[in-house]
Order: sequence, then structure tokens, then C-alpha cells
Amino acid sequence: MTTKRFGIAGAGFSGAVIARELAEAGHEVTVFETRDHVAGNCHTERDPETSVMIHRYGPHIFHTGNERVWEYVNRFGTMMPYNHRVRTTVGGRVYLLPVNLLTINQLFETALNPAEARAFIAEQADSTIGEPRNFEEQALKFMGRRLYEAFFLGYTTKQWGLPPTEIPAAVLRRLPLRFSYEDSYFNHPHQAIPRDGYTSIVQQILDHPRIEVLLSTGYGVADRGQFDHSIWTGPLDAWFDYRFGRLGYRTLDFEEIRDTGDHIGCAVMNYGDVEVPYTRIAEHKHFAPWEEHEGTVCFRETSRLAGEGDIPYYPIRLANDKSVLGQYLDAARAEAGVTFVGRLGTYRYLDMDVTIGEALTAADGILDAIGSGAAV
Ligand code: UDP
Repeated sequence: MTTKRFGIAGAGFSGAVIARELAEAGHEVTVFETRDHVAGNCHTERDPETSVMIHRYGPHIFHTGNERVWEYVNRFGTMMPYNHRVRTTVGGRVYLLPVNLLTINQLFETALNPAEARAFIAEQADSTIGEPRNFEEQALKFMGRRLYEAFFLGYTTKQWGLPPTEIPAAVLRRLPLRFSYEDSYFNHPHQAIPRDGYTSIVQQILDHPRIEVLLSTGYGVADRGQFDHSIWTGPLDAWFDYRFGRLGYRTLDFEEIRDTGDHIGCAVMNYGDVEVPYTRIAEHKHFAPWEEHEGTVCFRETSRLAGEGDIPYYPIRLANDKSVLGQYLDAARAEAGVTFVGRLGTYRYLDMDVTIGEALTAADGILDAIGSGAAV
């Protein structure tokens, strides 16, 4: 086999996983990372004052039903069992999320059993909607106006800066609606948080003699020529030097709150009222319930449109407008010598397990192509 040289832009999960797979297959890999740390937006570090593990770019909870991905992350760190639960404050009251039987009974001041609640919500739901064209139609079809307005309209408007009629229906489909008292946020069989943080896992993935990691170093156009193939996990539009215009992102601002003991009493409290400017508060010590800390650190999260220089978090895919994105996707398909992967590289709202799964698949594809003698 001929050894190939790969240049990878980005040391988040996508870049790290592909780097590892290629290196294990005998290829030489250089990873360029503009930040001074690996792990991208999953980066974690201990707060020097309290020693709480901080999810620097907002909470990340690992959950998956993909056995290959689950085995993969377990190779590189100790995953601690963790059950994510979220509460929401709306109209001066606290409710459980995702919407479940307790949420329904509290909001409607009823004591319905599962079958009664199912029938009751079916009555509330708008049966005139066929295939939902956007977030609002999806919500009205599945839960009716009252639940939608209480828990989703305000939060979604703040989170996306747009009316929910412009948000894709798929965003709401991330969340379940349950007719039991189960309040675990995710349905997946595996749910965990790495004991030593995500950054440690990504460092372990990258720890291979054929992988070189360059921190605080961008992957410039001039660098591309040194390699047989590039893997781009940065923003899709940046690779093409924004030739069709900029793709929109939401960015987040975090306001730190320090306290002792327990500040909000749970990992995440959402704020559904549109009058409250922030979307949620996360108390990071609750993401590591196996640890004990006297002090506590919380972050109040506010979402806004990303300007130049802001960190891109959520790609804004409008329900009815994909024209600029379409141009970039066509250009990406036509571009030789590069593979686009990950949340930024494919401009999709991806969970960590999907990101890792897609990176493994991308690496398989590249290795198959090399094995069959095709140009990569
Ligand atoms: N959402 C909402 N109210 C909530 C929580 C979520 O309206 O209290 C909507 C919102 O549009 C959000 C989407 O559901 O973007 C997906 O929620 P998730 O918790 O998956 O968002 P993430 O934690 O990824 O930001």
C-alpha cells in the first residue's frame, strides 16, 4: 500500500476520528487547529477555582444508539453513566421536559392517565396539517396550540431569532412527547459523560505516532498543496472563500454565575418565556454527579446571530430557503481532493454520536478508495 499524506482542518470529533482511522491504516496525517485546544465545541476544562469540569462551549451530553460509535468512544476514555433531565420555567412555574405526562397534567391541571392523555392531546392537535412544513406546523400537529405556546414558541423564537414558521420541522423532531412519567431527556440506550472530559477523549484519539497536531494554526490555501487529500471540518463557505455569500449561524453568549452549594438545583433549566432574554442556565457540576464540589459555576446562555469573528454554533437552515447552501453543496460535490465532514463542514445540526458515526463512515470510504486504487 502506498502511504498517503492527509491534511485535516479541525481537531474536533470529526477531524480526530478520521485522523485516527487513516493513521491506523498506515497513512501520515497532519491536523491543523486554529484554536489553542482540541475537541472543538465539545472542549472541557476544569475550573481553577472550584475544580468543576466546565463544558466551555455549552453542555454536551453523549447519547447514542449506534454500537460502533459507543464502542469507539469507550476505547479512548471512561464514560460515566449519566441521565440528562431538563426543567423549564414558564409563567412563574417549573415543569419537566421533555413534555411528558407530568408536564401535561401540570399545565392543564388534570390527573390524566396515559390513555386519557393520549386522547386529550389528539383532540388538541391540529389534524388538518398533513406533512408539517415547519417547526410550528410540526408542533401544532403533534401537541396542539397550548403546549406549543407554553414550551416551544418563546424558547424557539429566542434560540433561533426567527418565528418558528421559518424553522425546519426536523428541529422539533429532536424532542420526544411522552405519555408516561419518564423524564429522561434522551431515548437512546447509551447515555454518558466522559469522566475526564471530552478534551481528554479527543487527545487520546489523536495520540498516534502518525498524527501530528498543530494548534493555533489554520489550514491555509497554501497548505493544501502539500497533501494528497484534505479533510475539511471548518465552515463549508470558508473553504470556498465565501464566494456565494455567508451561511448563517447562531452564536451563543455565556454569562457566568458563581455560588456555593447548589445554584439552580439541576443540570439545565430552560426559560420558555420570551420576556426572559436568556434561553437556559446550565449548572455544570450536575453533569458530573459522581464528583463533589463545594463551589458551583453556572452559565446563562443567550443566542444571537453570529457576526464575523463570532464562534458558529447552530447552522440556520431556514424551512423554505436553501439557495446559498445549495450552491455550496453543489460546489462541494464538484471539488476534487477534499472531503467535507462534520457540523460546520456539512452545515448541519449534528449530535456528537452522529458526527463520530459519519467520520468513521467517511474514513471507511477514503480507505476503500485508496484500496481500490482510485484517486482520493
Ligand atoms: N426547544 C424549545 N423549548 C425547550 C427546549 C427546546 O422550544 O424548552 C426547541 C428549540 O427550538 C431547540 C429544539 O427544541 O432548538 C431542540 O432542542 P434541544 O434541547 O435538542 O436543543 P440543544 O440542546 O441542542 O440546543
